[in-house]
Amino acid sequence: MDCMVTNDIDFSIPGKVNNIIAGIEKDSAQQCTFDKINPHNGEIIAKIARSEAADVNEAVVVANQSYKDWSLLSPVRRGEILFEIALLMKKYQKELAQIVSLETGKSYKDAYGETSGAISLGMFMAGEGQRLYGRTTTSSVQNKYPMIIREPVGVAALIIAFNTPIANVAWKVFPALICGNTVVLKASEDTPLTSYFFGRIAHSASLPKGVLNIIQGYGHEAGELLVNHSGIDLISFTGSTSVGKRIAKVAGEKLIKTFLELGGKNPLVVDQDANLDNAIKWILLSAFSNAGQRCASCSRVIIHEDIYESIKDSLVEKTRKLKLGTSDEDDLGPVINEKQLNNILDAVTKAQKTGAHILIGGKRLSTSPFDKGYYMQPTIIENATPESDISQQELFGPVVCLYRFRTFQEAIDLANNTSYGLTACIHTKDVDKANEFVRRVRTGVAVINGGTYGSEPNMPFGGVKNSGNGFREPGSEALEVYSNYKNIITLVDTNRIYK
Ligand code: NAD
Repeated sequence: MDCMVTNDIDFSIPGKVNNIIAGIEKDSAQQCTFDKINPHNGEIIAKIARSEAADVNEAVVVANQSYKDWSLLSPVRRGEILFEIALLMKKYQKELAQIVSLETGKSYKDAYGETSGAISLGMFMAGEGQRLYGRTTTSSVQNKYPMIIREPVGVAALIIAFNTPIANVAWKVFPALICGNTVVLKASEDTPLTSYFFGRIAHSASLPKGVLNIIQGYGHEAGELLVNHSGIDLISFTGSTSVGKRIAKVAGEKLIKTFLELGGKNPLVVDQDANLDNAIKWILLSAFSNAGQRCASCSRVIIHEDIYESIKDSLVEKTRKLKLGTSDEDDLGPVINEKQLNNILDAVTKAQKTGAHILIGGKRLSTSPFDKGYYMQPTIIENATPESDISQQELFGPVVCLYRFRTFQEAIDLANNTSYGLTACIHTKDVDKANEFVRRVRTGVAVINGGTYGSEPNMPFGGVKNSGNGFREPGSEALEVYSNYKNIITLVDTNRIYK
């Protein structure tokens, strides 16, 4: 049954999570569903609408119909509406964080922090409505005045990953809307509820119906159909490099603007003069927070040979004390689904067979109360060759490999020795080495004496090589994705005025 989204937001989990098209909650046309499973205990949380061609088409048609009014609205007014949405997110932050925690298995504390980031992003992008600067320039022609303004791109297809679901929604929806695009958001099949409740919040604010349409469904069905639809003007995708490459091919054929935020195999280098306690703290956080399901996760630690053994021993000892579970006192939760858990386990087994040595972890947690959930032991591996699969492929789980280096050049070569280039970090007290490293490491984010982190609402984030296609999100740099420039030229007829 279809029903209007109302002003009262009920955060109880619906039996079925529907699409939101033109502000109306709708079943999928075929009325097919799939199950969203709780990664902590394997129980079904809800049935999710499994969108197919008719649903995707309806959402794209509605987004096109809504484009004219939304794109012509003043950016300042658009910003006011986005600010209202951000304020409602603040009002319902507790409820939103509970939803994020429930469907990802991360702690409430972490989910709350993620939600804070999403709200800040909403507020930052709302402010961009007052700063949507273009520029003027000079001309070689007398009395010719160029004025370069930003215009929306059109209907934006937004496709997101599961790992930080409310941040991922905010990172794309707010910049897309402030620039005047209308949106079809394809929720992640692993985190459908966060997108759904964001949609309810947005429609409780003054967002005109049809401007933000949310479809649920699988990537190979709804996602693929959306990317191939002739009615979209922009694709903004956050997810794996393999899916990103597939999307880039389709977008290349259609010649539409495409933004890809992809995977990482992020290195953290520890030089012999580093503050070792600080380095160890950051390695553990970078490798294991969010159960390693961060594009910026540290999966390779490159350690000077003189301190290798002591760092290794300390990491193993501290990893043994990490607590798994979903409470605020725990260090990491489950991975998102059984398939992903099995992929990680297979990769670890294969690495072992090719000579790598597991220092700790490497297995699924099979003791109660974790046995029904998708819990992977935090895992540290050594002796993997830099060319092996485990050193090269993103696992998106709590698995980190250790490597040794002797010279600074070796550290840089190892850091750059993957097809990815998202984030990197060095721990050293030597200002020359730190500066040289951040310049020579081929990534979009480089950190000194911290973790492989780097995303804040007002900062550009994104990668080089196979980690992205050069655009950045969020920060003001995200406007480059969601707007196009138009050069408006005025020729003034001075002869007429002064005759
Ligand atoms: P994924 O690539 O499996 O899925 C991402 C999204 O794409 C999902 O919504 C999925 O339904 C959709 N999708 C899948 N196949 C599709 C297809 N053929 N056509 C269109 N859409 C399709 O990734 P995931 O498992 O959800 O997330 C993990 C990945 O995301 C990791 O590689 C991680 O590094 C990356 N990630 C990158 C960033 C970044 O900012 N660079 C941030 C978060 C996650």
